[in-house]
Amino acid sequence: MKIKEKNLQQIGEFGLINRIRKWITASDPALIQGIGDDVAVIEVGTKALLITTDILIEDIHFNKSWIDPFQLGKKALAVNLSDIASMGGAPKYFLISIGLPKNLPLSFFSSFYRGLKKEANQFRVELIGGDTSLAQKITINICLLGEGKKSDLLFRKGAKVGNDLFVSGTLGDAALGLKILQGKGKTKGAEGLIQKHLSPRPRVELGQAIAKHHLATAMIDVSDGLLIDTSHLLEESGVGARIWEDQIPLSGLYQKWIHSFSRDSFQFALSGGEDYELLFTAPSKMRKRIASFTHSLKIPITRIGEILPQKEGLHIIKKNGKDYSPSHLGFEHFK
Ligand code: ADP
Ligand code: MG
Repeated sequence: MKIKEKNLQQIGEFGLINRIRKWITASDPALIQGIGDDVAVIEVGTKALLITTDILIEDIHFNKSWIDPFQLGKKALAVNLSDIASMGGAPKYFLISIGLPKNLPLSFFSSFYRGLKKEANQFRVELIGGDTSLAQKITINICLLGEGKKSDLLFRKGAKVGNDLFVSGTLGDAALGLKILQGKGKTKGAEGLIQKHLSPRPRVELGQAIAKHHLATAMIDVSDGLLIDTSHLLEESGVGARIWEDQIPLSGLYQKWIHSFSRDSFQFALSGGEDYELLFTAPSKMRKRIASFTHSLKIPITRIGEILPQKEGLHIIKKNGKDYSPSHLGFEHFK
């Protein structure tokens, strides 16, 4: 009997990455972190070199009718900055490779570069190269380099049983903003949510502060959704967790608009993507210091759960005390 070969839809993006990780192992002694974290880390003298790359593809990650080229330029860099932020690193240089259809007006491109430059100036990073090619759809890939102090960096691994689980900002706004953009309904009053989707603000300063002050044991940025990114952190740390649903930080706008799109008030906050907030674990003795950080940086940081032994898996505790293990974690390519 012929066994049917598995396709990408069956194994999903993360199934594929796990296989790549087994096929190719890196062994250079200077490599601190290879596949399996938000960025790769290489030891260079007393410092650590951070390298990350992210791709944006037209009609997969963005649609030209919703996002203008200026916003697209900013966002292409922002999503990479967020990965450097999740390690507590300082972003420095980037290269950009672009695939473009030949009928694209030059003005699209000049606006895109203006957006890119604005974001680069804001975060003091410099464009040092790239590549350009013809493509069927706009394809943007940035490779961002950063640096950090080896002893300060935070990884997805490192969470310990008994640690608290914290998240910055509010969750679900960007995913709800996207839903509103995609819908045919009214958007008036929802501009703040739409803005969160179109112009995410990477938490670079916060990530560096958390790392420098050794507040956390592990950290990841929430790019694919709270549940899926929590599960990555848990997997790499070899632990489980409990999240209290009613502690998940929701913005006023989210609470106002969510009911037009879902009966579950937490749906987008749990499994919507593109928040680009920081999710981290910390020993309970850090609670006071983290609270004073929230105050001084003026960025909300909320304790949303606690780390459990690995056999417990990932649980959500609902407001009524009911406990469940989510079956659908969030967005995954190919699935
Ligand atoms: P993030 O969401 O933080 O950008 P990803 O989920 O995209 O992270 O990637 C997780 C890990 O898998 C990272 O270490 C990344 O470098 C690695 N990775 C992703 N795609 C590939 C690939 N095609 N080949 C090798 N490594 C990959
Ligand atoms: Mg990431």
